[in-house]
Amino acid sequence: LSRNGAMVTVRPIAAVRHAVSRWRRGGHSVAFVPTMGAIHAGHLSLVARARRGSDRVVVSIFVNPLQFGPHEDFRRYPRPVTRDRALLADAGVDLLWTPDTETLYPADDRTRVRVMGLGDVLEGASRPGHFEGVTTVVAKLLAVVRPDVLWLGQKDAQQARVLEQMVKDLDLEVELRRGPTVREPDGLALSSRNGYLSRDERRQAVALSRGLTEARRRLMAGERSGAKIGAAIRRVWREYPLVREDYVAVVDADTLEPVIRVRKRVLVAVAARVGAARLIDNIEWEP
Ligand code: AMP
Repeated sequence: LSRNGAMVTVRPIAAVRHAVSRWRRGGHSVAFVPTMGAIHAGHLSLVARARRGSDRVVVSIFVNPLQFGPHEDFRRYPRPVTRDRALLADAGVDLLWTPDTETLYPADDRTRVRVMGLGDVLEGASRPGHFEGVTTVVAKLLAVVRPDVLWLGQKDAQQARVLEQMVKDLDLEVELRRGPTVREPDGLALSSRNGYLSRDERRQAVALSRGLTEARRRLMAGERSGAKIGAAIRRVWREYPLVREDYVAVVDADTLEPVIRVRKRVLVAVAARVGAARLIDNIEWEP
């Protein structure tokens, strides 16, 4: 147990349960913001919203090995622990939980949580097993923290949708709230992975948000063809040779199924490789 101002950092599960149950007995509401660390203004905006809506805020930092593929960036994922702690303490977090891998995944663990369908498309198609890793770890984190509110970023729209389904299907007693995507001045969505970009790559990474802005412009102008919206995004991307498409998708925001004609709320989701980074971004739009 250690302190940064009023923020306490703990590792064992029992310490989290102890702190949270004390708050609950005192009648305080608890919000939870799970992260993988490398804290940026996107994370901090969720913390700020969490603080406005609840009496106590718990943040976890856990780089979850289960949600990384064998050839992904688990080992080089940034872990600026001291800086993260200072930022979260300044943001008014009450409890920071930094669990060990061995604690969350003891050698004899055998249980995985999988949301069928929703977790197999888009990010799930490009990153097999990714969402099973996400849902399993978040189910475990929720079981320990037992928050009233779980805060998630719109930046990871599919993740939020998958977790929403998990919470519903497992009858978990937690309210899900989404915070909007926080962006750099040029539009690039903040991400811990932006640090992988070289100067040139960073300049071209703006293609993702520019493509989405073009998609929104087309939608506002009355375009309803999913294919044409996708094509408009790809046309923007042609100006950015360092940006290599993984997918450009126009899907139903609830079912995540491809949309031929836009009639209700849609998710326009994109993923691309830019140098060593794999970046994602999205917008939601309702006619
Ligand atoms: P991560 O540490 O990347 O797992 O993200 C932790 C939480 O922060 C998730 O709910 C993300 O969706 C959210 N998040 C990440 N980047 C942003 C951003 N640029 N704006 C808003 N929320 C974000």
